[in-house]
Amino acid sequence: MLDIVRIPALSDNYIWLVHDPASGGTMVVDPAEAAGVERVLAERGWRLTAIWNTHWHPDHTGGNAELKATWKVPVIAPAAEAAKIPTADRLVGEGDVVRLGDHAATVMEVPAHTAGHIAYHFAEDGVVFVGDTLFAMGCGRLFEGTAAQMFANLQRLGALPPETRVYCAHEYTQSNGRYALVAEPANQAIRARMADVDRARAAGEATVPTTIAAERATNPFLRAESVEILAERRAAKDAFRG
Ligand SMILES: [Zn+2]
Repeated sequence: MLDIVRIPALSDNYIWLVHDPASGGTMVVDPAEAAGVERVLAERGWRLTAIWNTHWHPDHTGGNAELKATWKVPVIAPAAEAAKIPTADRLVGEGDVVRLGDHAATVMEVPAHTAGHIAYHFAEDGVVFVGDTLFAMGCGRLFEGTAAQMFANLQRLGALPPETRVYCAHEYTQSNGRYALVAEPANQAIRARMADVDRARAAGEATVPTTIAAERATNPFLRAESVEILAERRAAKDAFRG
């Protein structure tokens, strides 16, 4: 079993620290900054063995250089964003396999939020790290890609086994859910989930990871039936002040 620790960073980022007890390996997904990662490594007595990036944005790569210098570890990053991630050592793309001990993750190219965004899918573990592509009840903003690309990404991610645990990189659930209620006012699953989310946030608790099953039931972007509907919802959410 992978041991996955959530590390809050910056205003609403989550860094994921992933430990494989069998091999002793520990990798970090999207280190926004080094400090929180160092703290958890010290608490757990773990040694960092790799850094994995989903995309180039500074709130996902900001800790690369410091962690790399301290731990002498490789940075694995999307090949299509090599120029924007100067700390990268191993460049990966669609179908490449990245390992943590005996656990294998397949790289999925999911461009749209950024042009080279990737996800890491541990199929046997039922775990996917999606960066800023799929959020709980939301999806990433379309900074470098199109609604058609995001639609394809969400169709693909949505087709993963329902029990798959989805590790996204931000705590955006409450804001996403407020919009989801507007996008799908008759969806009772969204109402029920939002009651849980509001309770959790009031108690200062995190609402991720999520699951593919939960997103199939409550995510108005993953549930969009066409590119046009996704584009319309993405534009509406960009302008939404809820
Ligand atoms: Zn981003």
